[in-house]
Amino acid sequence: MIVVMKPNSTQENIDNIVKTIHSLGLEAHLSKGQEVTLIGIVGDKEKFIQKNPQIMPGVERVITVSESYKLSNKKFHPEPTVVDVRGVKIGGDNFVIMAGPCAVESKEQLLESALAAKAGGAQILRGGAYKPRTSPYSFQGLEENGLKYMAEVRDITGMPVISEVTSLKAIDAAKEYVDILQIGARNMQNFELLKAAGKSGLPVLLKRGLSATIDEWLNAAEYIMSEGNPNVILCERGIRTYETSTRNTLDISAVPVLRAKSHLPIIVDPSHATGVRDYVAPLCKAAAAVGADGLMVEVHPNPACALSDGPQSLNPEDFKTVCDELRPFITLAGRKFE
Ligand code: PEP
Ligand code: MN
Repeated sequence: MIVVMKPNSTQENIDNIVKTIHSLGLEAHLSKGQEVTLIGIVGDKEKFIQKNPQIMPGVERVITVSESYKLSNKKFHPEPTVVDVRGVKIGGDNFVIMAGPCAVESKEQLLESALAAKAGGAQILRGGAYKPRTSPYSFQGLEENGLKYMAEVRDITGMPVISEVTSLKAIDAAKEYVDILQIGARNMQNFELLKAAGKSGLPVLLKRGLSATIDEWLNAAEYIMSEGNPNVILCERGIRTYETSTRNTLDISAVPVLRAKSHLPIIVDPSHATGVRDYVAPLCKAAAAVGADGLMVEVHPNPACALSDGPQSLNPEDFKTVCDELRPFITLAGRKFE
């Protein structure tokens, strides 16, 4: 439920409503726009309705939000959320590229990848330390040592770092070393993990589940946000369809759909969506053109020797070319890319 305040409502009117909401044991979420202030209410709305909010001083109208996700809902928060990670802004007018290897393999490999990512224009370094591999016999990641390398390479390059967490133990470790927690597609509905990520105090990039609908995805975001963490970034990484030419099918329409439903920043990952290096560049351009807030791209100094996802990883030269070709699309979309 949302209370829309009159443009001329006073701070006292707003405080009075927030006080009433709190006195009923409900949560109030304020969204102050240029002209109007909205107060979103989370909890049993019936209690609030009994107080006749429509006649409270300063109230213009009261709207019921039918969707089960509230905090991630654009109706609650019409302005786009901008997540600030060590000065790199994700969302709003900005375009951000997160790039790096699928898995952290060694400090040297990570540093080489980071320098390649930075040379292309990426602002954030990605790298997996806990790898959710399909086969238990595949490389599972360097775990905490991988996280340590992420922090060391951040200190050398100045790039904020993002890494996937697959367990509560991994969240505890990652909090010491990384700037953004990534929840992978396979864990999108691991609700205990989502709640713990919500409590971590770090921004969270939430990938779309392999077979998740957009509403299920926004409800997963709600699990993180309802723990008091507003800094959630959504990442479309392809969904399961009957098509086998690509690893997954990039749902490019998810970008405008999310834009209509939510205020959270939207990142597109063409590497995991396609699984094929040659298809990454065109889909980076498509993502920029359709209005995504940024990209996640896998880059490896020598993809042929990568311990995971080599076939979809770009080498440093190809990554640079993609970024150069991408710039006009970012500009046309009206975004800043620094
Ligand atoms: C990844 O980004 O390393 C990854 C495993 O991606 P996804 O969860 O989208 O499969
Ligand atoms: Mn990967």
